[in-house]
Parts: sequence; structure tokens; C-alpha cells
Amino acid sequence: MSVESGTRIKVAVQKSGRLTENSLDLLGRCGLKYSRGKDQLVCFGENMPLDVLLVRDDDIPSLVQEDVCELGVVGLNVVEEKRLGFLAAGIAPLFEQVMTLDFGRCRMSIAVPEEFSYQGRSSLAGKRIATTYPNILERWLAEEQIAAEVVTLSGAVEIAPRLGRAELICDLVSTGSTLAANHLREVETVLESQAVLIRTPVPVAAEKVSWMNKLLKRMDGVQQVRESKYIMLHAPRSALAEIAALLPGSEHPTIMPLEGTDEKVAVHAVCRENVFWETLESLKAAGASAILVLPVEKMLA
Ligand code: ATP
Ligand code: ZN
Repeated sequence: MSVESGTRIKVAVQKSGRLTENSLDLLGRCGLKYSRGKDQLVCFGENMPLDVLLVRDDDIPSLVQEDVCELGVVGLNVVEEKRLGFLAAGIAPLFEQVMTLDFGRCRMSIAVPEEFSYQGRSSLAGKRIATTYPNILERWLAEEQIAAEVVTLSGAVEIAPRLGRAELICDLVSTGSTLAANHLREVETVLESQAVLIRTPVPVAAEKVSWMNKLLKRMDGVQQVRESKYIMLHAPRSALAEIAALLPGSEHPTIMPLEGTDEKVAVHAVCRENVFWETLESLKAAGASAILVLPVEKMLA
């Protein structure tokens, strides 16, 4: 490895799949401009000392574990499966979850064939359950004190019952359409998952620290901004307390005088939760007028 590459932060991102677009978009929102290498395996940061390694999602925790990459964006399901695997093998996992990201939502669920008569968790006892996530499933079964057999497959879990390899399956679901297409019915949720940012617990080289901190702050800002809104309204002084209490997730609104009136003031606030029509209607009912809701583009706490 050249001296130059040793001073650059490496971020592992899924090469091609459900997380790819959102992961690269997150880095873009943090201000990263990049060019994609000819081999399509690396994106070279042009305005930050940072490169993005494009890999299979299953390899991301290991790349952070081995300190090849300082950061990785990957599904919680993959992180948990790897972490439990390492722990079972007596290896200390060297990746920490820094923050949850608002994409890649899915759940790991147990599903049964349509004709299976499911009477609750006791129906799982003694059954074979096919999955690509044996560690997570084993942990859940142990927690629920269910004695079932875990059949580990490397893919195509949903056809396992038809092939007679297992009676049930445990797989990732988001809409449930794949299950339905395979005549399977979801009965239990084993894990709720979404994309997460992981990092190495190993202290990063001195020359990378400042960019690393800057990037983590920006990522945090991007996450906060997604749901945040800036609200502006006019409020009668007499209703200020009631109106401030209605503003979702806002801490200290700015109150400003309005020219030509003492009865009303302008209220500006950042709301860290989504603002729904119902909230606006309640604000209006409390006496607010001239209500404006604006998206927030960037935020630095
Ligand atoms: P790779 O080639 O990188 O190994 P993959 O086939 O394992 O790809 P994808 O299907 O792209 O991975 O899923 C990547 C991640 O997206 C999953 O690990 C999970 O965290 C998340 N995800 C969100 N919704 C779903 C879903 N409906 N099915 C599977 N994964 C989902
Ligand atoms: Zn994968």
C-alpha cells in the first residue's frame, strides 16, 4: 500500500444491491465528490481524503474487522450475524455501530407454507427452519426457548420447503411479495433491521482523525435533517405557550416582534420530527396564522 493511500479514509459500501444507491447518496450529501475507478471497485474521493470500496455486503463487517476500512455501511442483519459468529468462535468483534441510517429497512421473519397450521410459537418446536442467518435465528430460538433445527443455506431460502429441505424458513422481508409468490406466510419477526454505519474501534491514524470526525458529524447532520423541518408562523402572545408545545420535537423556538403589532409575534423553530397536516391544523386552531413549513437542507449541531 502506498504512503498516499495509507492517509486516506476507506469506507466500505455495497457494490450492487439494495443499499448501494442510498449509501453513495449519503456520502454525496456529506459533500463527497468522487470518480469511479475503471475496475468499478473503488470510488476515489476528489475533494476529501476518502475512498469508497465497493464490495459484497457480507464482506463489509470483515473489512472493518481487519482494519482495511475504517467505516462501513451495511444492514444490521449482516452486522449482527457476523458479530454473533465471531463471538461464538471466541473472536472479539472489531466493529462498532455508530449510527442507524434511514434506509434498508426490512425484517427477518419466520414464514410457514400457506397450508401449515400455525398455532403460535409452540408450532415451531421440532421443525427444520432454513435460513442464511443461522446465528441470529439460533439466538432468537434460544431466547424464546424453542427447540427447532436450523438449516443453513447460502441462498434461495424461499424454495427450501418445496425442496423438502425444511418445513419453515427465516428470511428478510420488506413488502412480503416474495413470500406470497412462494406461497409462504409470515408468522414471527426475529429481527428488525435497517442500514447502519459501523466503524473500527482501532484509533485511526493521526492524519485521518480530523476528516474522520468531520465526516461523522456530517453524517449525523444528514440523518437529522431528513425528518427536520423549519416552521415559521405568527402567534398571539397569549397563545405562545400552547403553540410552542404543539411544535413537534423543537427545543427553543425563536420569538421575534412583528412590526406594527404588540399582540402577535413571529415564531421560528426547527422541528426534528416530521410535521403533519394535523399539527398545522392544531396550530391554526390555537391561534397561529401565516404558517410556513420549509425543508432543512443542512444542519450542524
Ligand atoms: P450482495 O451481492 O452484496 O451480497 P445481497 O443479495 O446479499 O447482495 P441485497 O439483496 O442487495 O443483498 O440486500 C442488501 C441488504 O438490504 C440486506 O442485507 C438487508 O439489510 C437490506 N434489505 C432491505 N430490504 C430487503 C429485502 N426485502 N430483502 C433483502 N434485503 C433487504
Ligand atoms: Zn449479501
